[in-house]
Amino acid sequence: MLNNSMKFLRYIFVIVSLAAGVGLIERQHSTTFCKQEETTPTLAMLSQNLLQSLNKELIEVKKKLESIGIKTTTFDAIHKGNSKVSPGIVQPHTMKHGEELVSPQLRNLIQDIIKKTALDPESIGIIHDKNQDSEASSDENTIYLNEKLFSNLSQAAQRFIIAHELQHILFQDSKHYTKLAKRIGISAEELSDRGNLDHPLCHYSRFLEKRADLYAALMSPEYAQDYLTCTQEQLHQLGDDPFNGTHPTRSERVTLAQRAVNEIQHGSLCVA
Ligand SMILES: [Zn+2]
Repeated sequence: MLNNSMKFLRYIFVIVSLAAGVGLIERQHSTTFCKQEETTPTLAMLSQNLLQSLNKELIEVKKKLESIGIKTTTFDAIHKGNSKVSPGIVQPHTMKHGEELVSPQLRNLIQDIIKKTALDPESIGIIHDKNQDSEASSDENTIYLNEKLFSNLSQAAQRFIIAHELQHILFQDSKHYTKLAKRIGISAEELSDRGNLDHPLCHYSRFLEKRADLYAALMSPEYAQDYLTCTQEQLHQLGDDPFNGTHPTRSERVTLAQRAVNEIQHGSLCVA
């Protein structure tokens, strides 16, 4: 069994929760292009509006955190000046007692996606957790899947969700988020409370989710399309989730995905 602190870290990253959108804490964070070298100049150029929007949101998040005593200098120190995270700092996963690998077929699928990033496929743990009530989650170096739930997703959703979790790992969101939450002195349970929807840490969490979404979409036009397909499926199957403070609502995600597809695939520079 995993210990409670591990579970906390993971749940902070749950991207989609079929069974329980509420009650699970998730989060994420940081800044950079995943596998920049695989991003074509055109794609990078077309994504400028998206990235500018993200940067603006980050500035707003910092202001909100300042309002509860987290200075920007503290925030930047935690995030190492908001610079890109080097894949080299990701500590390789080592199997822990009770951990179980996913099936070879699923492992191959995920490793193929990891190869599209700057991460080393062999350093990332890919663990099956039948007790997890979301399809996928992640911490600093591991993706956790409930294979039964994950297998019910469309292939596009599977690809995108893995790409999203990899962005969390690339940005080391769980580590940064945990440090920040500790600094603020708020627990996962408190943050998941619906009454905390407007807590600065929730704003931060939603920023991290959007960034993981967008950087996953920026991996290629195909991933951008997967983003749209995935979010549309979620909205259609589960409805919206306006009280999930740690993630953008499903309708917001569809809107963001449509914008990403427009900007990335069709070169239409929309302004939010
Ligand atoms: Zn996430």
